[in-house]
Amino acid sequence: MQVAADRPVPAVLVVYVALFLTALPEVSAASDDSEVCQVRVILFLPSDVPRPAIARQRADEIVRYAETFLLEGLQRWGHEPPERLFRWQEDGHVELLEVKGDKTADEYQGKPILRREAVAKAREQYSIRGDRHVWWIFVCMGDPPARYENYLGGFDQTMGGWALANFDTRPGTLDPDCDIAGGFAQELTIKGLVHELGHGFGLPHIGPKRAIDGGNTLMGPNTFNFHRVAPKTETRAYLSETAAAILARHPAFRGVPDKRDPLPSVQVEVFKAEWNRRTRATVVTGRVESSSTPVTAIVRDESDARPGEYWTKHYIGEVKEDGTFRVVIDEPSPAGGTLKLFFVFENGALTGNGKNRGARGAPEKAYRFVKGNFVFGG
Ligand SMILES: [Zn+2]
Repeated sequence: MQVAADRPVPAVLVVYVALFLTALPEVSAASDDSEVCQVRVILFLPSDVPRPAIARQRADEIVRYAETFLLEGLQRWGHEPPERLFRWQEDGHVELLEVKGDKTADEYQGKPILRREAVAKAREQYSIRGDRHVWWIFVCMGDPPARYENYLGGFDQTMGGWALANFDTRPGTLDPDCDIAGGFAQELTIKGLVHELGHGFGLPHIGPKRAIDGGNTLMGPNTFNFHRVAPKTETRAYLSETAAAILARHPAFRGVPDKRDPLPSVQVEVFKAEWNRRTRATVVTGRVESSSTPVTAIVRDESDARPGEYWTKHYIGEVKEDGTFRVVIDEPSPAGGTLKLFFVFENGALTGNGKNRGARGAPEKAYRFVKGNFVFGG
């Protein structure tokens, strides 16, 4: 657990990550515990789209890439990642729930509600129990240039987490070392696929930081918009420290049933923000009381200087046993804005007010930028 804001990763940690990943067994048995929250991968085929010959290979490539990206990201920020995140079968392939839609490809275009049909059919066909999983739905509209245009992810009270994105069948092989937003990974929109899955896990949009030489963030802008601000040659993206802190508590990463409801009560007793002229950083301190255990305080900096919502920088700090926390905002932008405060709880719940998920409804603090300094309101 980190105390302050994002920081570079020590080389020794990177080496350790590499060793850890190469040591993983190729195959591990899928869990039989159906109540456990798990990521379920669905290949959704409209009625007029035959099963692509490359389906199995492509699904394995995408899922393996995503798994490495996410678990390495957790490790990078000091969290102990699970051995596997997805359901790998004895034969070495990822479990792929193939579902045939009632309607044609044309009829599903622009209709992200297809997720309901996809999940209901997958549950029925594959006898999946457990009320909440994370459903990663690959929609195949046929060979390119046909593609599904909705890239979306979110949380549904009954269904659990969900994410939708296009399944690209173009020939080729995804190199696991390919940058997530470069080369063949970019052609397959891997960053988009994993970004939406991130929403399925409850991640908000989180922008990149200058101090991290890592390119874009997974939960940052799409590659096209990123390149309006950053050099076109930058094809990397990383899992931010905040995203890692949220994922590390998610039921699917901990291999437990989703028990995040009802949300814990949240009483923010103290919430202070002070600008430190000397360090050029804003220090947020406070104290929180709750019916559950908050583990991480997150401050979301909604600066007016952001090129867009996707660029919102987040900062975290550990919540101590007495409920106190300290978060350092060391990359403020010279403009006014609003800070929002919310928390990651031990059971994976994410809330700032105990009523809404994520930063919605969270306690906030407006600020102005005056003559080179930040001035905070009430
Ligand atoms: Zn998004």
